[in-house]
Amino acid sequence: MKAIITFHSIDTTNSVLSFHPSDFLHLIQSLVESGMPIVTLDNLLDENCSKGVAITFDDGMASVFTEALPVLKDFSVPAHLFLTTSVVGGDNYWQTQPKNAPKFQMMDWDQIAACQSAGVSIEAHTHTHPKLSVLTAEQVQDECLLCDEIIEEKLGRKPKYFAYPYGAYDEKTQKFASSQYKATVTTFMGSLSKNDDHALLPRLDSYYLQSNWIHSKLNKLTGKAYIKSRSIIRSIRGHQ
Ligand SMILES: [Zn+2]
Repeated sequence: MKAIITFHSIDTTNSVLSFHPSDFLHLIQSLVESGMPIVTLDNLLDENCSKGVAITFDDGMASVFTEALPVLKDFSVPAHLFLTTSVVGGDNYWQTQPKNAPKFQMMDWDQIAACQSAGVSIEAHTHTHPKLSVLTAEQVQDECLLCDEIIEEKLGRKPKYFAYPYGAYDEKTQKFASSQYKATVTTFMGSLSKNDDHALLPRLDSYYLQSNWIHSKLNKLTGKAYIKSRSIIRSIRGHQ
């Protein structure tokens, strides 16, 4: 199995965007102990790679630094952070954020730099986290290019990968993303397969990986069946 796992915040609040710190530790530990390689997106997307998991965090919540980073360092595993640059050091109440969304403190640049030094690659998630599908082609480009420029200026490395905010894309955003980035990830639920379009890669949302049972089954057929069943439920609920 090859898969990209999505996390937002690692904390104890049980919000829809939260994954419990002890579950995070258990998941990483289970993957390592089961022999499932935790790799970079470069390695995972290499055609010679037959199995592995890539860890990704969206937005840039401060708990990635306080809770996830020590675990990643302990196990010496890489990860990717899809960063929204306009809210660094602030909170996640960007303009299009629903009013009832849980509020999170975001990392500052020092914390993001510490993540990068520890093997977390900082990738693009636009400047202001808009719904790209309602913007013009020019606005889409501005959002992405500004995000890329800020990350490169602050951290000395240009993002290689991109995550669509809210998973919202259309033809123009997909076209631009495939010209600007090596690959782009979505909120489609699923593991990777050979014929995936690299501008529309599926991921496994950690929201559906919250029991210890699934951690130990990730590498097995039952795990795949579980993920597939959650995918169907998710589609029905309209989360895609
Ligand atoms: Zn996001």
